[in-house]
Amino acid sequence: MQRLKGIGVSPGMVAGRAVILIQRAQVLRYQIAPGRVEHELMRLEESRSRSRQQLSDIRANLARRRGPDVASLFDAQLLMLDDPMVIPRAVEIVREQRVNAEWAVQQVFHEFSAVFDEVADPYLRERRGDVGDLIGRLKMNLRQGLETARDLLRELDESSVLIADELTPSLAAQVDWTKVRGFATDAGSRTYHTAILARSLDVPAVVGLHDASRSVEAGQLVVVDGTGSALIVDPSDEVLARVGRHADDRRPGAGAEAERRRPATTADGVRVRLDANIEFPDDLAAARYAGAEGVGLYRSEFLFTSAACDIADEDRQYEIYRAMIEGMAPGPVTIRTFDLDEEQLASHAATREVSGAWAAKENRGSRHGLRGLRLSLSRPDLFQVQLRALLRAARHGTLRIMFPFVSGVEQLRDARRIVGEAAADLARRGEAVPRVPIGVMIEIPAAVYTADLLSREVDFFTIGTNDLIQYCLAVDRADERLSLLYEPLHPAVLRMIVMVRRAAVRQRIPLSLCGEMASDPALLALLVGLGLTEFSMTPGAIPVAKQVLADADSTELRAMARRTLRMATVDEIERELLASLARLSHARE
Ligand code: PEP
Ligand code: MG
Repeated sequence: MQRLKGIGVSPGMVAGRAVILIQRAQVLRYQIAPGRVEHELMRLEESRSRSRQQLSDIRANLARRRGPDVASLFDAQLLMLDDPMVIPRAVEIVREQRVNAEWAVQQVFHEFSAVFDEVADPYLRERRGDVGDLIGRLKMNLRQGLETARDLLRELDESSVLIADELTPSLAAQVDWTKVRGFATDAGSRTYHTAILARSLDVPAVVGLHDASRSVEAGQLVVVDGTGSALIVDPSDEVLARVGRHADDRRPGAGAEAERRRPATTADGVRVRLDANIEFPDDLAAARYAGAEGVGLYRSEFLFTSAACDIADEDRQYEIYRAMIEGMAPGPVTIRTFDLDEEQLASHAATREVSGAWAAKENRGSRHGLRGLRLSLSRPDLFQVQLRALLRAARHGTLRIMFPFVSGVEQLRDARRIVGEAAADLARRGEAVPRVPIGVMIEIPAAVYTADLLSREVDFFTIGTNDLIQYCLAVDRADERLSLLYEPLHPAVLRMIVMVRRAAVRQRIPLSLCGEMASDPALLALLVGLGLTEFSMTPGAIPVAKQVLADADSTELRAMARRTLRMATVDEIERELLASLARLSHARE
């Protein structure tokens, strides 16, 4: 038995056979049944003959247009197709390790790379590019009919546990979680989107394991212990027995319904509003079940992680938003306009051909650049589609529209102007347009420092601490090596929250906070002490939050918050917070 320590991001314990996904290389490694070996070998052979055909065609074309010298560049790749170290070696790997063909081909590449790394001759080292190109082609041809890693995941027939180098939310969103019981990743931190998703799907998960995807073998029995923050390889019988007991505990208890519906208040009667963060329309049930008063953040960009919707399809978006608003009634729903980046938009466009021109443009795929409202403003045609769908849906209940990633008043004004144009379009079509509150996410330090200016031109603020912390502290929220520096209790973060609250109170606009910070009971207590009374969080965190608030006295929390604001380091603040909470709960016992 081996215990790999990580960061538990979604509680629970599950056991299953490991399926390995190397997403960066777009390959999945899984164990195949003995009867399937011949099938895998046939796929390899088909991929070789398709690759040979394609390379010969390319060569012939080039010879015609550019002459034989240029065309001969492809001779090397054609020769490699018959090299005993390529396909025959992959065949050996499939037979010996009983793994899928894609994985075997990837292994061949690794073996070649290791050899090339050792040669001094620059000409030979350059050949590494040819091998990489050829391997890519073989993998592409293996994928024929099976489009992506996602399709491969669907092929799995055993209850399995997914172990990946990283797992993007779009892939995680499409995994069939009735087959895949839990997951573990090398990368990631608590605020990694996939971690957020795991909690909302109620799938046990551990992230930040560094090299689990390399050290665990496909088909090995593993336990994902989200509660204990570990991945256990080859678990003992005792650990497996614990998994069984966990499964029993996870069944919902009876008679808790009324308790879940009770609104949240502190012990001294301060009302606190708890809404849900959701990613999919289906999450509404979980939000209601958890006792959320409304949806405080619907991450609408998740619409494009499945085939459910087209970014240019106004009617489909309208139906989805309408169903969500009606499903949560009478509670309000805050829909955040798409928080996509260029790469996400381009990959959606590539599958949809809605905006091929966009897909063709150079994109840098950064989460820190043309993203969120900035990207929407650069594509007013697509932004208008979403806004019209939202304004139409608003007729069916209580909707608030929220813009993500706002860094200044100019963008807000531009966005409001486009909302006005969308409303005018609808009016021209003879459709009624209700007045919809418009707010912004405060998640970039520039928005904090201009919160007083922004507050005059919006109906509400929502603090997004997931991004605010990363931009305030210059710590990439997805980089597990920096997870210790990603510190919600940094004095700078707390001061920023205080600043935003002050601006909201002065302007008398509602303020909520929807970052992951609110899901942590101790941090939630501190935030209430700082004067915040509205939060939106993963549905699963709501019952615990209610309990914590019911046990807390707001006057004491305020006194504690004042003390922390005078402290200089995270350590001091953390110690003060934990000591105060321990003292308060002791006093009540
Ligand atoms: C945030 O940044 O805090 C937030 C809630 O938005 P997201 O996690 O979707 O970036
Ligand atoms: Mg954000």
